Amino acid sequence: MSNYAADLIAEVKAKNPAQPEFHQAVHEVVESLALVMDRYPVYRKMKVLERIIEPERVILFRVPWVDDKGEVQVNRGFRIQMNSAIGPYKGGLRFHPSVNLGILKFLAFEQVFKNALTTLPMGGGKGGSDFDPKGKSENEVMHFCQAFMSELFRHIGPDTDVPAGDIGVGGREIGYMFGQYRKLRNEFTGTLTGKGLKWGGSLIRPEATGYGATYFAAEMLTTRKQTLEGKICLVSGSGNVSQYTVEKINQLGGKAVTLSDSNGYILDEAGITAEKLAFVMDLKNNRRGRIKEYADKYKGVQYFPVDAKVDYNPLWNHKAHCAFPSATQNEINGKDAKNLVKNGVYVVSEGANMPSTPEAIEVFIKEKILYGPGKAANAGGVATSGLEMSQNSQRLAWSREEVDQKLHGIMKAIHKTCVETAAHFGTPGNYVNGANSGGFLKVADAMLDQGVI
Ligand code: NAP
Repeated sequence: MSNYAADLIAEVKAKNPAQPEFHQAVHEVVESLALVMDRYPVYRKMKVLERIIEPERVILFRVPWVDDKGEVQVNRGFRIQMNSAIGPYKGGLRFHPSVNLGILKFLAFEQVFKNALTTLPMGGGKGGSDFDPKGKSENEVMHFCQAFMSELFRHIGPDTDVPAGDIGVGGREIGYMFGQYRKLRNEFTGTLTGKGLKWGGSLIRPEATGYGATYFAAEMLTTRKQTLEGKICLVSGSGNVSQYTVEKINQLGGKAVTLSDSNGYILDEAGITAEKLAFVMDLKNNRRGRIKEYADKYKGVQYFPVDAKVDYNPLWNHKAHCAFPSATQNEINGKDAKNLVKNGVYVVSEGANMPSTPEAIEVFIKEKILYGPGKAANAGGVATSGLEMSQNSQRLAWSREEVDQKLHGIMKAIHKTCVETAAHFGTPGNYVNGANSGGFLKVADAMLDQGVI
């Protein structure tokens, strides 16, 4: 690593203590941009990377609300407005007890590069709360969402910052937050994406991240003149991204055999068919149950509860061709990566954000497998949010086919950018370098054009 990169990373760690996920995300990007910084010294001179690492604005606020027992609860709310050089801040809201400043900064930082890759004019942001929707009543979720938006509404708007969903924030939560935003602002604009179809949402938005990650895997396979037909796929998580990843794998002729939640995972060697997926969607989106029920319902399915004593995730230790990590950050460690390769996996397309640890990425790069990092592979979600914004601005709604076709085209374009940029900087086939450099160049050039602000 160059002195410049090492000094920069050391400074980030010193300035932002106790934010390991943010350090990890910055480290990966700074390291892979070494070739760009060497070739174009203007970025170093103008301290472009130093500026990208520092959020334009961080908003931290109190979210007080009253639960069903009449007790006052206090959560923390955040919005990280990371970079708006190429468009309004855009990125999801996460509701999960693990949410803190460091996690949201890592997500907002990644979002800047991802949004630049989509070809659409969107800056990067991320937000959320340490609120845990699990086990809460419908009423409590609504009251929390209203309390959260009672502060956030001041800081967002269709030309300023347009949040969407993420872990723990799906159509239900977006609905309650949009309702409160509309009431407080007295305006009906496309300020949130992931809205319901009857009130400004876009067809294909719920499907977009999972479909996009699967399209990206298919594109990577074309570089080896292969398709997803007949490929066995390991999928983690069972939320929004996982569900639509399985749907698209099925449509493209592959076979998904695993799904998980924070309690354990199921292995269904017969394949998670459309009918079984409909059961999962009802289980997770309506009944809000646990994935174990899948194994209780279908014959021949194995269920493995999480074993805190082992230092690897057994879900990644089954014979397969492709892996789609779609749950959360750092869910594939070095040992898991080795297990994947040992079991024949040569395609990893990240639906989740930063699901692979640095040790895991090292294994994938060394083994020269087709490894699509989240910044590129899961950009279909935010890209379709961008398409929702366009439809809202025009007050038009495009057809399902039209949006899916645009999404597919965007995923192909992102793949092309990654491949071409990686080759341009002398690291052909390295999608990490391709995604980081491709995203960086667009934002960095916009920042140079706009002066030191
Ligand atoms: P979701 O619908 O809330 O589902 C999340 C899934 O992951 C659930 O099955 C959940 O299990 C599991 N999970 C979450 N945290 C976990 C943990 N710490 N340990 C084990 N399992 C965990 O969320 P999602 O929207 O699908 O998001 C999944 C990933 O995709 C995240 O990394 C997110 O940032 C990324 N992503 C999402 C979008 C999008 O459009 N939604 C776009 C780009 C990237 P439990 O229910 O047991 O918690």
